[in-house]
Amino acid sequence: MKQIDQMRRRAARYLDVEAVEIAPATGVFSLSFDDIPATAWTEAGPILAEHGVKATYYVCGGLAGRRNMDRDQFVERHLQELHAAGHEIGCHTFGHTSVLRMSGDALKLSLDLNAAWVAERLGGYRMETFAYPFGDCTLGAKRYVRSRFVLGRGVRDGVNAGREDRGLIKSVGLESRRLPHYDLEALMAETAASKGWLTAYGHDVSDQPTDYGCTPEDLNRVLRLAKAAGLEIRPVGEAWGAIAA
Ligand SMILES: [Zn+2]
Repeated sequence: MKQIDQMRRRAARYLDVEAVEIAPATGVFSLSFDDIPATAWTEAGPILAEHGVKATYYVCGGLAGRRNMDRDQFVERHLQELHAAGHEIGCHTFGHTSVLRMSGDALKLSLDLNAAWVAERLGGYRMETFAYPFGDCTLGAKRYVRSRFVLGRGVRDGVNAGREDRGLIKSVGLESRRLPHYDLEALMAETAASKGWLTAYGHDVSDQPTDYGCTPEDLNRVLRLAKAAGLEIRPVGEAWGAIAA
């Protein structure tokens, strides 16, 4: 099973690539939060406001008010607050299920359900971008995601520059398990030099983060470095609208 999953992921990465030229006038950085643990808003929100930047929050309606990875997830009020503050809401499926575990019909149902759930709570809001749960992607899911969203974001490291697959955009993890292995300054410098697009994703934000989360200081540092490198900081969908030629 594991081997088949790996082959399906690899097929999604290398086959049926819809390459789009990434050509911003200057390098761009986009910050996102997946699942929306409560602290991605209660802790990260004030930091984003201090820096005067907007982020993208990838929501699963089915996680509202629940526990996930041993952390309280967002409640509806958080979603309404972050939307009112001008942040982007993106789709992360309704039930946080890997696309490896869903048929085409099940994926469609999950996306329909999440779209309706969000629209009902945010005055008809329509999500434009998608992030794959666990970063898992298949060829079928990629095609379908492209038909419904302007882009799909994965979790593969690297700067998006030159021609990139609209269905599987790269992203670096602001995760305590990954951060020690990145040279963020070099990544930001590479983004600026190549006039590329760096996207990052995080989860919880606290002084004792999970393996998938980061500290408030990590978040501060990332934003300081992006600014120091001269990168424009924009939500994923807005960045895409401005840079995809
Ligand atoms: Zn997720």
